[in-house]
Amino acid sequence: MSEPSAETDESVRDVVIVGSGVAGLSAAVYAARADLEPLVLEGPEPGGQLTLTTDVENYLGFPEGVGGMELIQRGKAQAQAFGAEFAHATVEDATLDDRPFTLGLASGERLRTRALIVATGASARWVGADGEDELMGYGLSTCATCDGAFHRGDDVLVIGGGDSAMEEALFLTKFAESVTVVHRREELRASDIMADRAREHEDISFRWNTELLEICGSQEDGVTGATLLSHPEGYPKERYEESASQGDAEGRAGGPRDGEDVTKETVDVGGIFYGVGHVPNTDFLADTPVPLTESGHLDTLTGMTTETAVEGVFGAGDVMDPDYRQAITSAGTGSMAALDAEEWLDTVDAAAERTEAPLSAD
Ligand code: NAP
Repeated sequence: MSEPSAETDESVRDVVIVGSGVAGLSAAVYAARADLEPLVLEGPEPGGQLTLTTDVENYLGFPEGVGGMELIQRGKAQAQAFGAEFAHATVEDATLDDRPFTLGLASGERLRTRALIVATGASARWVGADGEDELMGYGLSTCATCDGAFHRGDDVLVIGGGDSAMEEALFLTKFAESVTVVHRREELRASDIMADRAREHEDISFRWNTELLEICGSQEDGVTGATLLSHPEGYPKERYEESASQGDAEGRAGGPRDGEDVTKETVDVGGIFYGVGHVPNTDFLADTPVPLTESGHLDTLTGMTTETAVEGVFGAGDVMDPDYRQAITSAGTGSMAALDAEEWLDTVDAAAERTEAPLSAD
């Protein structure tokens, strides 16, 4: 069945939900059940981060686990059953200082809406290693909480030196035989408390000044190994790539090779976890009055609300949550955003009715 296209020009929606991950879908179910006929814009990563994982074992209600993709497909079907519409469209810019709000789509169309739910999520940063496109979800993961339990008895690598990497490494010790943190320099970015916990754990070791060049394996066998580059002064990949572009000492061109100090080694591992941070998808809000935090997340008002400083704009899921980042918390904030939007629309409508009501005779 073909998807309906995003409506344009004269038609003004009550609610547009930008993003079709678990937060957007949950918002869509609630908004549709409230007869708000929401339009969900599926962006460049339809279904969001859950579509990158295999089985989800910590989502309430699925004692045998559920595939990430299946969970998303079922959520979409549930929202559609209540009347939510979906369109493949990427929002490039937004005008939020005039009402109704206007969204500029990559197709050139403009879309108008009274309330806007931003559920664009955050994309896990990838490191650019060879093989990552093929093996993401097949032994390569960006989420230890989601996928750690699949690595019982494995030797695993965690890439990164911040709090996320420490947290992933500590979590993985519950399952893995050994956990090696691979960091591109020899100083951790992580907070002291997290760094100490990881350093003191007997199952965690560190490969300093080391980066991941290539991931070995296949979708059938999963991750089987990793090629690592090291350099005593850190950032070995940059040096390796530099030496590749410059050719060797005699000026001969050729592919990258071990330099004098850059060493290359292939190790056997059964899993690799990226913990190099997440990037909230808020670019399209850059020129709007919606405040963003220093890390680029949507800044929602203090307290248990999804409202932002711009009335009528609500945030849900990882785009506004740098801390919990779980499927179930995203579903929770998605439902909250729809309830908040419904209440706000009711308030606006009630105020408009009062303004339009004829003055009484007495
Ligand atoms: P982060 O602090 O930005 O750390 C990212 C780490 O990944 C850095 O060590 C960085 O190396 C490395 N990195 C980035 N790009 C890389 C690449 N292409 N190749 C190799 N390494 C790369 O991100 P985060 O750890 O996700 O933390 C984000 C925020 O959430 C922080 O404020 C953190 O405190 C917070 N957080 C807190 C907790 C907790 O307290 N339990 C847990 C998770 C996150 P460099 O150091 O060399 O730049």
